[in-house]
Amino acid sequence: MKINFLMILVLALTFFLVGCGDDNKANENAVKAESNKNSGSATIEEETVAKAIPIVPDNDVIANDNFSNLQLNDVTKPVYDKYTIWERQEAGLPMELPPITNYTEGKIAYLTFDDGPDNKITPIILDILKNYGIHATFYVCGNMVEKNPDVLKRIYTEGHAIGNHSYNHVYKELYPNVDKFLKQISDTDEIIKEFIGVRPLIIRTPGGRAGMWTPDYEPMMTACGYVEHDWNVSVEDATSKKPTPQEMIYFVDEQTNKQLKDNAAIILMHSKEDKGNTAAALPGIIKVLVDKGYTFGVVTPMTPQPW
Ligand SMILES: [Zn+2]
Repeated sequence: MKINFLMILVLALTFFLVGCGDDNKANENAVKAESNKNSGSATIEEETVAKAIPIVPDNDVIANDNFSNLQLNDVTKPVYDKYTIWERQEAGLPMELPPITNYTEGKIAYLTFDDGPDNKITPIILDILKNYGIHATFYVCGNMVEKNPDVLKRIYTEGHAIGNHSYNHVYKELYPNVDKFLKQISDTDEIIKEFIGVRPLIIRTPGGRAGMWTPDYEPMMTACGYVEHDWNVSVEDATSKKPTPQEMIYFVDEQTNKQLKDNAAIILMHSKEDKGNTAAALPGIIKVLVDKGYTFGVVTPMTPQPW
């Protein structure tokens, strides 16, 4: 009798618990239905617009499945991939780029802006670039893209190149080992692709490769098809010098007086909230470079290494 009573008790408890679960689910669904009802069609439309992926700008090159279309001779064409590295792996497509000859004709300046996109300084920089008809390269962080996806879309649709600059830029989370670094890079690829439908092949490692990467980083990045570019000219806008716009223009002038490798000036700048001086210096920087006979390119896998 005792056993039967216990069995009935267990069964009753089981029904009670399962029932609770269903009730919770039913409640959840009711809440969801209610919130959908309240959100109204306007909000759904707004969300659809916000999520819409921009069409590929005319000038851009999208890598084909085996990367055979990446040997280019136009330094103004940004290059992207329609697959993430994990999508390539899953589809059995090559992940590593074929050998690509660097572009070394003429004096090319590559204006690069790291750490954005923010919604204050990046739009000002984009306005200036548009005014001069110049394209630049923006190395973006995943957490900034999440906050300002519309600015990322503007960078893309206005024909600039987008590079991957990790998810959160935190050195102690990026440089314990290459797996942690690769995770931030591939997570950021997913975030970028969510908003513009493609992902970058170019990366810039926070802090620069020298001093940050141990010898195992480069082979891993190469095997995954990423090309990293540091810089050989800097406006020093992320240093304790806190230069004025005039000083930044002077730094670019001084650093481009010496012979740069492959005639390529890869110029490090930053585009986030506290970089007003960088935006203010940009017209003067462009003038210095134009006066020295530079034309402007965007960073792609064919861009030479800065040193
Ligand atoms: Zn940075």
